[in-house]
Amino acid sequence: MNIDKNLLEKWDKEYIWHPYTQMKEYRESKNLIIERGEGNYLIDIYGNKYLDAVSSIWCNLFGHNRREIIEAIKNQADKICHSTLLGCGNVPSILLAKKLIDITPKHLTKVFYSEDGAEAVEIAVKMAYQYYVLRGDKGRTKFISVKEGYHGDTFGAMSVGGSELFHGVFKPLLFKGYHANPPYCYRCRYYNFKDTDERNEKGCNMECLNEMINLIEKHADEVFCVILEGGVMGSAGMIPFPDGYIEEVAKACKENDIIFILDEVATGFGRTGKMFFCDNEKLKKLEKPDILCLGKGITGGYLPLAATLTTDEIYNQFLGEFGESKQLYHGHTYTGNQLLCSAALATLEIFEKENVIEKIQPKIDLLHRELRKLKELEHVGDIRGKGFMVGIELVKNKETKEPYPYGYKAGYRVAEKLLEKGVYMRPIGNVIIICPPLSITKEEIKYLCNALYEAIKEADL
Ligand code: PLP
Repeated sequence: MNIDKNLLEKWDKEYIWHPYTQMKEYRESKNLIIERGEGNYLIDIYGNKYLDAVSSIWCNLFGHNRREIIEAIKNQADKICHSTLLGCGNVPSILLAKKLIDITPKHLTKVFYSEDGAEAVEIAVKMAYQYYVLRGDKGRTKFISVKEGYHGDTFGAMSVGGSELFHGVFKPLLFKGYHANPPYCYRCRYYNFKDTDERNEKGCNMECLNEMINLIEKHADEVFCVILEGGVMGSAGMIPFPDGYIEEVAKACKENDIIFILDEVATGFGRTGKMFFCDNEKLKKLEKPDILCLGKGITGGYLPLAATLTTDEIYNQFLGEFGESKQLYHGHTYTGNQLLCSAALATLEIFEKENVIEKIQPKIDLLHRELRKLKELEHVGDIRGKGFMVGIELVKNKETKEPYPYGYKAGYRVAEKLLEKGVYMRPIGNVIIICPPLSITKEEIKYLCNALYEAIKEADL
């Protein structure tokens, strides 16, 4: 089909309301319209190629046209595209549930499907709340999380999140909880480290963790869950939790009989260099998290699937006679859809067959090594993250860490320069986000880091 490119651009501006986009500005500027993908590259309607430095928002794992995933979707489509999971099973959802149970810590034994990360979190929150209600513990209506945490854009997910910028306007409508200050080492409230690297070299007493533990102990009787992201606060600007922080929070939850939800929507499936953050001896010993949220990379970034995994302890509370109405009344039309589950099965098969986690380690080391060079640039304040989740915070003044005003769009200025060099990058405010597919090659990593160095310089911040 030969489609008029100008018309596509015009209709895109005329009819589509883009997410997280100031449409006034979008309509006034040149729009990038992707037509196809080739490996780690996006290709626009004019045939221009862009290295996908953010994995199409942190979900693409093995590039854009892995035959195995596509074939799995096609083969499934030939059998059936969709039938309901409401009181009825389907083959790929069963096989995938078994696989997910096999590859996550063994205390997690049940899988509840959904389509997006936010929904996986909604389900986790509902499970946790109703668990206590069913246990006869009805006074628990609050949660604990961290400021600037992000768990998605639906109301439950916004409530347990803490993004002032994204969700502040909805505050009067959100349910209430307690937010600890985030472990944001670059802008720590207790120490004045030059950057996150300096904090990691020197260590600290983790006063931020004490704040969190105090909140848990103080409000234990009224809280139904503590929720954290799995090792890196992605949308806050790729802020890594200091080593040991999450484990200590899990321990405090265990001691205070509070459900601990770990949101690995962004960090799961190899993104931080491990299959999952909860693949962690201390957490396994504690049998935490009680609930695990997965999404994004679960289908290799091909189709929207998410999953909420939990324990027998929680699941069993929901068992009873039909008339007791203990069932979890949550579900969507496409819950457990066959095409999505088939894509996920093919993705997990690639992990197994290709020893992916082992293979990405040298590439992760290379990325972090190459990015070090950026430190000498005048406006690069902090370089942080884990694995293939990296944030580079741009500052107006490196000495004082003075941030750029939001409207200055420092990150977007760099993104524009990167696009000219054939790299697609979507920043978050003043933070450049580097979150490439796990399949990025060493040559591409070098190209990306060099292009970024030049782009920051050329952006004339
Ligand atoms: N949880 C975390 C940690 C995320 O980073 C995100 C999205 O970035 C979500 C949940 C929401 O996922 P989705 O955009 O698929 O709803």
